[in-house]
Amino acid sequence: MAKIAKVIVDIPLMQTDKPFSYKIPENLQEVIAEGSRVHVPFGKSNRLLQGFVMEILEEKDQGLKLIKEVLDAEPVLNQEQLFLADQMRKTVFSYKISILKSMVPSLLNSSYDRLLKPAPTLSQEEGELLFAGKKKIYFSHLAKEEQLRSLHLAQAGKITVDYVAKDRKNIKTQKYYEINHLNLADLEISKRAKKRQELKTYLLEHSQPRLLSELYHLFSRDVVRYFIDENVLKITEQAVNRSSGHFEKISQSYFLDLNEEQRTAVERIAADIGSAKTPYLLEGITGSGKTEVYLHIIDRTLKMGKTAIVLVPEISLTPQMTNRFISRFGSQVAIMHSGLSDGEKYDEWRKIKSKQAKVVVGARSAIFSPLENIGAIIIDEEHEATYKQESNPRYHARDVALLRAKYHQAVLVLGSATPSIESRARADRHVYQLLRLTQRANPLAQTPKVEIIDFRDYIGQQEVSNLTPFLIDKIKERLAKKEQVVLMLNRRGYSSFIMCRDCGYVDNCPNCDISLTLHMDTKTMNCHYCGFYKKIPLHCPNCGNNKIRYYGTGTQKAYDELLQVIPEARLIRMDVDTTRKKGAHEKLLTTFEKQEADILLGTQMIAKGLDFPNVTLVGVLNADTALNLPDFRSSERTFQLLTQVAGRAGRADKPGEVLIQTYNPDHYAIQLAKAQDYEAFYQYEMKIRKSLSYPPYYFTVGLTLSHKEEQVAVKKSYEIMHLLKEGLTNKIKILGPTPKPIARTHNLYHYQIIVKYRFEENMENVLNHILGLTQDKENKGLRLIIDCEPQNFM
Ligand code: ADP
Ligand code: ZN
Repeated sequence: MAKIAKVIVDIPLMQTDKPFSYKIPENLQEVIAEGSRVHVPFGKSNRLLQGFVMEILEEKDQGLKLIKEVLDAEPVLNQEQLFLADQMRKTVFSYKISILKSMVPSLLNSSYDRLLKPAPTLSQEEGELLFAGKKKIYFSHLAKEEQLRSLHLAQAGKITVDYVAKDRKNIKTQKYYEINHLNLADLEISKRAKKRQELKTYLLEHSQPRLLSELYHLFSRDVVRYFIDENVLKITEQAVNRSSGHFEKISQSYFLDLNEEQRTAVERIAADIGSAKTPYLLEGITGSGKTEVYLHIIDRTLKMGKTAIVLVPEISLTPQMTNRFISRFGSQVAIMHSGLSDGEKYDEWRKIKSKQAKVVVGARSAIFSPLENIGAIIIDEEHEATYKQESNPRYHARDVALLRAKYHQAVLVLGSATPSIESRARADRHVYQLLRLTQRANPLAQTPKVEIIDFRDYIGQQEVSNLTPFLIDKIKERLAKKEQVVLMLNRRGYSSFIMCRDCGYVDNCPNCDISLTLHMDTKTMNCHYCGFYKKIPLHCPNCGNNKIRYYGTGTQKAYDELLQVIPEARLIRMDVDTTRKKGAHEKLLTTFEKQEADILLGTQMIAKGLDFPNVTLVGVLNADTALNLPDFRSSERTFQLLTQVAGRAGRADKPGEVLIQTYNPDHYAIQLAKAQDYEAFYQYEMKIRKSLSYPPYYFTVGLTLSHKEEQVAVKKSYEIMHLLKEGLTNKIKILGPTPKPIARTHNLYHYQIIVKYRFEENMENVLNHILGLTQDKENKGLRLIIDCEPQNFM
């Protein structure tokens, strides 16, 4: 009998989507456990791959390969996470390995390389050229031509190639010094060694242990080295956290007295911590104090010795937001967001893993935080599409949260002013318990008055294209009163592009069927799909004349127009261009918060979370742009966005007003956003979903097939449609195959099939079968994406 580990290796293919058996060498038996990260030899070439140990068994040894090494002192995944990966694999049609990898920080995913060594047949000259005197070199360190040369030499048998896997993990440490006072007293220093004398005096005066780097600021390395060699200074190294240095600066804040509705919510939810059965949907209007409810729930959770996760959309993860948690719970909080470097993310992860952090506040992937003993999971703005990952593995954080909550009997709270139609419907069927907050929490605040401006009334009378005279007057009124204005430009679905006025040529991406977007800051034309970019052309690429014109009403244009009509206004523009630099987002918001600007003009990113008491007017420049997108959720998204942005007005004692400019004033999403009536919107939208057989009445799966030749993509799409029809019942409804709304990107043609279904026992099997087929040799070059409950039909 031998100890055998079942390992999932780092190859995302159907053939490797199962554990492989390896023997655990004697000397590693103590350290390897379920959830350990290991390097194992794989395949004929025995190249080293990273893998995760799923299970350890006692079995007969049948000449199995040995595990090469174990990468961490403790397993990186715990039993719950292994269980989670099993469960997720049923609805996320990505391979187990990509699910496991998404659960650990990216620094814990090994990189692969090839180690080259000269063989005896390598001539001295060739050897010198490639190896330059070294005994071995890494392939990745070579220049392009050298890499090619090395491949030829390997083919000729003149060098040997070993595949190696490299752990990228690194821990940042700081060195400290301690003084051995006896040795210091005894240390004799000659009179001429002035610097040494100075250091001795310094150490006698500063006897506490300090950072070694501080000594290096004052004395040269040679001088310090002498004291170390003489055993006067003892150096120790300590791991430091790269990300959470700024907690001390945030002052403590106190719990607010809850109002009646808030108290009811907190009491009901808190009673369930540790024994929860049914998740809660907390439907609270903007400013109703949902965050304060979350803070109280977390407080109760911590008092029971348990931990909590709070998810917020990436865009709302502003310092304003995270400080509310840090100021209550201090260093028990870990923040996980995409702005952190890989090293910082790894350090936050270690802080959680080592149980130092008990509250994790983060974006989507924070749902995988290795917390134990979870008492509460909170998802704020639960309707946000960003909770669904748009690349493999395509999981929804809400589904993962449901699994984790069940595992821990933790309370799950889904909060929103505008819950997704699916979640709200679940509350109707008592799958979730509905709790409502119907009043603004600040007793002085009132819900803002919303008005609609029909853009069509102003056609031809406007001085500028983005702002009606009515809105301009209102803005001026507010500025006169020294109040602040938020203006939102809904950018979804269009962007600025260039067109030739003579021949009508639009500059498109050479790889994708989409026009290039103008970026004034970098003076380039960029493709938002494949990353292609080029300089802004001065002449039309088609006819050569210079009548090129810039089109589109991006924020830049709206900004220029505002300056033109209200030159005295102090403006802040917030969009992807102005927030690309690290910390820029925060800086702009702080400027606005300190009232050093009058108007905050931005895209969707300003719609959420912001809580500025002096904002009394919110203007939506173009409410419609998302309404006509080919997506059944376009009305829902529009309603949500308008409600969210309207919620930024009148949050304190000054009454707020909201103006919505639109070409579709009678559309129900806009009318009901004006009425700020979520419940009415929900009822209306449900009728539409029912008549069109969309969620929540039906489940959906989207399959996207891509190939560089359009005929192949079409042919394979029909083959797959037939497989779906064969494998499933005749109750399913299939849409397509049709070209995707953006039919070609990255030089690939995309076709999509949407399956709508209610109960299909065979669904998982059929989809796995299809996923496996695309890896057959005859399907080389074909790409397939299976997306359960797609959130985005573009
Ligand atoms: P939401 O998350 O629902 O939009 P917030 O939690 O941000 O609402 O609360 C809105 C404002 O009301 C904040 O300024 C908050 O400090 C304040 N607030 C919340 N609860 C109370 C309360 N019980 N009493 C007084 N003010 C409150
Ligand atoms: Zn492109």
